[in-house]
Amino acid sequence: MKRAESVTFGGSGFDRATELRRDDTKINDLLTSGAARIVVIWRGKPLMRGENGDQLATLAFDHPVLGLATAPPVFLGLDGHDAVFAQDISAWPGPDGPNSALSGMFDPTEQHHPDMPADTKFVALRMNMGRVSPRDAELAVMAVGVFAWHRTHGFCANCGAATRMELAGWQRSCPDCARQHFPRTDPVVIMLITNGNSVLVGRSPGWPEGMYSLLAGFMEPGETVEAAVRREVFEETAVRVGSVGYLASQPWPFPSSLMIGCQGVAETTKITMDPKEIEDATWVTREEILDAWANRSATMYAARKGSIANFLIRNWLSDTLD
Ligand SMILES: [Zn+2]
Repeated sequence: MKRAESVTFGGSGFDRATELRRDDTKINDLLTSGAARIVVIWRGKPLMRGENGDQLATLAFDHPVLGLATAPPVFLGLDGHDAVFAQDISAWPGPDGPNSALSGMFDPTEQHHPDMPADTKFVALRMNMGRVSPRDAELAVMAVGVFAWHRTHGFCANCGAATRMELAGWQRSCPDCARQHFPRTDPVVIMLITNGNSVLVGRSPGWPEGMYSLLAGFMEPGETVEAAVRREVFEETAVRVGSVGYLASQPWPFPSSLMIGCQGVAETTKITMDPKEIEDATWVTREEILDAWANRSATMYAARKGSIANFLIRNWLSDTLD
């Protein structure tokens, strides 16, 4: 797909400079050089700035607030002459005391730290992802994703000992059994299944009323992308899928998914739902989708802007999937 990387979080060509991660001296020089910018994460939310909170804010490495961090910064890479790091200050209790931002699927709350610049605030990525520039989005997704991993992988999965951060934040190592652990990414297939002029959409229990999206599911060990697409669609709807092709991918750090967007052609159309998996599934025509996106539908509205489902459906409607 020619425009695959224009998807939200689709990448901006940021230089991760992975060759520097082993060089502790160089990493420390970059951090203290005066040209380092620190992306700040608090409980999964990046620090943003601007009136609408849609620009990534960064701090100098010696900003006093970064003293709240309980682990070293993670080296993200080089942005021109600037070295970019990320630091997690989740130890800050928040403006309203403990647990003020236990976020659900959609967290509209914003938090300002009193010692940070006046126009900065912590904003959940899901709330502003459609408005953030590609470079800011890539940095935010990297930082949110890598810290989500650190937060939940403090102990060795092999022996249970406490692990320590290495490779400038891109590895954890176990001092007891020497096992190395790397940031995990969970592949998810999400598929645009078509039958002529119609596309297969569904909704999960608990979604906002009227929200429909493409079917999706986690891949399993030993499975190809194509097989996962066919299995998930059959499990959820009993629709059989024939040919499957790759379209685009999207990092989705909630907490660690990679959405693999595919197109599949239906071989059967009768839907038999698995109520344990989904609440509803249906075929909708291009005209019905256009009505939903124009808010003319009484029963359905569009997949969320910024999601790869929205991106794939939009390109299907405009005939730009090639
Ligand atoms: Zn171990």
